[in-house]
Amino acid sequence: MSTTAREIHSNASGTLHHFINGARVEDRGERRGDVFNPALGTRTAEVALADAAQTRTAINAAEAALTDWAATPPLRRARVMFRFKQLLEDNLDTLAELISREHGKVFSDARGEVTRGLEVVEFACGIPHLLKGEHSVNVGSDVDSWSIQQPVGVCAGITPFNFPAMVPLWMFPMAIACGNTFVLKPSERDPSAPLFLAELLTRAGLPDGVFNVVNGDKEAVDTLLTDERVGAISFVGSTPIAEYIYATGSAHGKRIQALGGAKNHMVVMPDADMDQTVDALMGAAYGSAGERCMAISVAVPVGEETADRLVAHLSARLRSLKVGNGLDRDDEPDMGPLVTRQHLEKVRDYVALGVREGAELVVDGRDLRVADHEDGFFIGGSLFDRVTPEMRIYNEEIFGPVLSVVRADDFDDAVRLINEHEFGNGTAIFTRDGDAARTFAQRIQVGMVGINVPIPVPMAFHSFGGWKRSRFGVLNAYGPEAVRFYTQVKTITSRWPKGVRAENHFAMPTMG
Ligand code: NAD
Repeated sequence: MSTTAREIHSNASGTLHHFINGARVEDRGERRGDVFNPALGTRTAEVALADAAQTRTAINAAEAALTDWAATPPLRRARVMFRFKQLLEDNLDTLAELISREHGKVFSDARGEVTRGLEVVEFACGIPHLLKGEHSVNVGSDVDSWSIQQPVGVCAGITPFNFPAMVPLWMFPMAIACGNTFVLKPSERDPSAPLFLAELLTRAGLPDGVFNVVNGDKEAVDTLLTDERVGAISFVGSTPIAEYIYATGSAHGKRIQALGGAKNHMVVMPDADMDQTVDALMGAAYGSAGERCMAISVAVPVGEETADRLVAHLSARLRSLKVGNGLDRDDEPDMGPLVTRQHLEKVRDYVALGVREGAELVVDGRDLRVADHEDGFFIGGSLFDRVTPEMRIYNEEIFGPVLSVVRADDFDDAVRLINEHEFGNGTAIFTRDGDAARTFAQRIQVGMVGINVPIPVPMAFHSFGGWKRSRFGVLNAYGPEAVRFYTQVKTITSRWPKGVRAENHFAMPTMG
């Protein structure tokens, strides 16, 4: 059975609250945030911002549900995931509409986001197999040893605005399938999709309290970071906050995985097919208005001739980039607006900064106007050439539709440039040369690498994570690494006595 986005919004009566212990829960506090439709520039709802006491009610619910859920056989937990997967498929368009309406991304992109999240649910359906552990028979005479992976306990997720469904889905399906209970604190910019995910999970038969959504800001986050009942926290967002989450959560004895910001480079070798490269680069740089942590924000053509060809192709294509309302399904644009007016101003400021820093602004997207959407948070795609590594527009994450071209003399120069950047989330190389591609994959100091693939987001059965200041903590999101993150290993060594007496009780036991 599917629910329409309109029904969800009309039931919300203007304020989006929390989902705790299997039901929508009204926040009686006074703190509220604004939720906008970025294409229209209008405020469409307000979201409750939980205080510490309200956040603790979600942790209480998760704690109360833990013992029974952790003891539920993995096969039964998997069956909930199977039903959840079906409900996600049935409600794909509804989720996409909720996302597009609050985030601004185009409808087909929002559908793609949900599909990538759904794939993690599919992986979580295999949890009985993933939790099998290891077993060694006869590690000593009549002694067997095996390991089991038990849940960590109450886990929490703190997620960014740019993937309001996919990033939460990177986290809670695996956490829950592993037997944990979960409190999600989604972005306060686009809270409708996460709340709807909670309803779908309840419809899928998940017991009350196993999954909770608490809306809020720093106060809710700090409560999760310091409450001793929370055992593990997954965070995805900007680098300064990721670092704060890692430091504070670790100091409070929690397991932390904190994925941060990015500046992803695409190397274009002289032998690359220029049409294919530019097709890929247009989508990777300007898709979702550049608000993707895996967006390509720096193109690195190797050699002057490659650079001239690339810039000529890109600037021609960029002038016909279609920008509009992401929910216009009859005439879908290539990209929608930015998420908030404040973010729009920040991106505009970066374009102005690039000009002041001496980069060559080949295409300026700042003057774009979208008909009938005069108040929307729109900006067109911008392209800078001759950007250099000292510039702030090169070093800082802009998170908008702004692509910088940094010209490299040769392959080694391109590799050095990328390896010296503080971020190491994703990167790509476009080439026909297998040797260059292989060397690149080996030498590059980045967590996710594409070879003629512009946005190499790993599939659900691999794991997602960057290097350097793009990730704090040790284990990546979803896939096999998520099983390790959301479980703790216990190793059992067992002997059933046959009346044999140990000769020496005081030496370190050996099995020889
Ligand atoms: P953000 O860091 O502002 O917010 C992320 C979360 O942290 C939100 O839930 C927010 O409420 C909370 N938060 C914000 N300020 C806080 C504070 N001072 N104390 C405690 N909590 C706080 O990020 P955003 O603007 O929502 O998302 C965009 C960022 O996320 C970009 O930097 C992007 O690169 C990054 N991102 C990274 C990945 C990845 O996998 N590495 C994926 C998606 C987005």
